[in-house]
Amino acid sequence: MLRDAGALREIALLRTSTAMPTRKRSPRADPKPRSSPLMKRADIPLFLTAIAQGNAAPRTELIYTDPFSLLVAVVLSAQTTDRAVNKVTPTLLAAAPDPASMAALGADGIARHIRSIGLWQSKAGNLARLARILAEQHRSAVPSDRASLEALPGVGRKTANVVLNEIFGEATMAVDTHIFRLGNRTGLAPGKTVRAVEDALVARIPPDMLRPAHHWLILHGRYICKARKPECWRCAGATWCTYREKAPTDPPAS
Ligand code: SF4
Repeated sequence: MLRDAGALREIALLRTSTAMPTRKRSPRADPKPRSSPLMKRADIPLFLTAIAQGNAAPRTELIYTDPFSLLVAVVLSAQTTDRAVNKVTPTLLAAAPDPASMAALGADGIARHIRSIGLWQSKAGNLARLARILAEQHRSAVPSDRASLEALPGVGRKTANVVLNEIFGEATMAVDTHIFRLGNRTGLAPGKTVRAVEDALVARIPPDMLRPAHHWLILHGRYICKARKPECWRCAGATWCTYREKAPTDPPAS
């Protein structure tokens, strides 16, 4: 189910207006995670329901109008904030709205639109080659299977998980820096590697909650359970979180 681009833009602006954008870091760049005690399995639905804050059908903050524009946005979002990506995709996709026109635009043409984001040179090259493969081998459609997605330039497991979750409704878990941190800090899914956290989340979260949980965890990590200072005093999930250093009741003195 796709949403109107204007509505998405409004939602994105509302959500991001209260938070300072920070450059995404790879989970692998984080210091060794300090795992908390394992959250009880029975507490997981309660914790997730609490941090969902009534948002039953959360969606990505990336602005997109169709599968191809989502794939482009996700490829561009590596090591870059969604806000920065949302600034460059309108002009890029106006110039090249489909794989054939993106391939014709070429790496240099793509680069002219995305120079404000990180790793723009390699991303421009990846997008040009990705678009050509979609046009020549997939009839300009975004493939719905993991193997075909991960065979595309610039598309790894995390990007494939986002596309499978957001476009094709699969219960996947794309582990970014926020989810990696929360999996360990809250006791929800401790693991030393991104894949270990992903596998633990898929195994422990009830299947009917897995798809929205991806977004709940990202939003919670972005706005409440922040990397440097988790705001435990205003966290709806504090009752079930096992983080030893949480301070759930007292806001910081101003
Ligand atoms: S209580 Fe603190 S550490 Fe636990 S999920 Fe909430 S903000 Fe994060």
